[in-house]
Amino acid sequence: KIVLGFESSCDETGVALCTTDGRILGQALYSQIAMHKDYGGVVPELASRDHIRRLIPLMNETFAQAGIGLNDVDAIAVTTGPGLPGALMAGCAFSYSMAMGLNLPVIPVHHLEGHLLSPLLSANPPAFPFTALLVSGGHSQLMGVEGLGKYKLLGETLDDAAGEAFDKTAKMIGLPYPGGPALSKLAESGNPERFKLPRPMLHSGDFMFSFSGLKTAVLTTAMKLAGVSQPAEGMAIDDTDKADLAASFQAAIVETLVKKALAACLHMDHKRLVVAGGVGANRLLREQLVKAATKRGIDVYFPELNLCTDNGAMIAFAGAMQVREHPDLLANRNYSMNTRPRCELATS
Ligand code: ATP
Ligand code: MG
Ligand code: FE
Repeated sequence: KIVLGFESSCDETGVALCTTDGRILGQALYSQIAMHKDYGGVVPELASRDHIRRLIPLMNETFAQAGIGLNDVDAIAVTTGPGLPGALMAGCAFSYSMAMGLNLPVIPVHHLEGHLLSPLLSANPPAFPFTALLVSGGHSQLMGVEGLGKYKLLGETLDDAAGEAFDKTAKMIGLPYPGGPALSKLAESGNPERFKLPRPMLHSGDFMFSFSGLKTAVLTTAMKLAGVSQPAEGMAIDDTDKADLAASFQAAIVETLVKKALAACLHMDHKRLVVAGGVGANRLLREQLVKAATKRGIDVYFPELNLCTDNGAMIAFAGAMQVREHPDLLANRNYSMNTRPRCELATS
């Protein structure tokens, strides 16, 4: 069976075709980063409007790549949440209308399930069960994954998500949006030991995170370096200082993620640790996780770099896996659309 999947929860429009045996036949992606750059963050209204503009051209590109047509599709998968309400609405209105017109079933996909399963699309996919470190722009969670649809929440952030902490910290020290990649690039040339920044909740004995204190510590340090008493955007900080601060921040956040992820994996007695979400693209995080896990006989799995951040492939894949597990979904003709801007993935 062939599933056509759509992603439009935030600032990426993604379309892909995936078979129920897990092969991606075609995929196309458009990131709105350039459009939101001037505003220093995603502008929801602009995002919704742009999804509408991109969906059809991206879908055509996807079909051209796959060398198949609309008639070959057996189901339509779409992200129904969580995400920006208007952005979700754009992708869902499009997907549900098309499904209704073509008399196809709709498979609603939880955006985080897409991220969580994205490592299964890599050349060396993990088997179930595994512990997952899900670190994206809006979420930081540790999950025990026993199988498809069996997700146990072990812990999550009390405040900022890891990606959000990267983005906000980057903005604070004057780096362009999106901050995560820019900050980690700058960190490569800095000294991670120069500033002693807090590792919040490192020894809390649970699997919870908190990153807002770390962010504040960076702000205080940045103000000191710039010689100002009030926080301001684009504070004048020397390039070397800036790189050292970026490196020190990255080291603090990565150490926390690595230690907690490993502890969760050991607690679950899993032999596999899986990383997903945009921050999973971070090089230091990848290196440190592999280093720490290998010592404990745990294997680490990552999504391909281009599948860490939002994309259509992970949504088409999640939809296809659901169809494979529950073939009766193909008979569903319920078109009452229900977008869920906030919703949990955990099933236990
Ligand atoms: P969610 O999935 O929770 O709704 P999202 O879809 O916005 O959030 P993703 O697309 O998974 O999040 O990831 C985007 C985040 O990943 C951004 O916060 C970005 O800064 C961060 N990110 C991307 N690359 C890197 C990197 N190399 N190092 C650190 N952070 C990164
Ligand atoms: Mg994005
Ligand atoms: Fe995402």
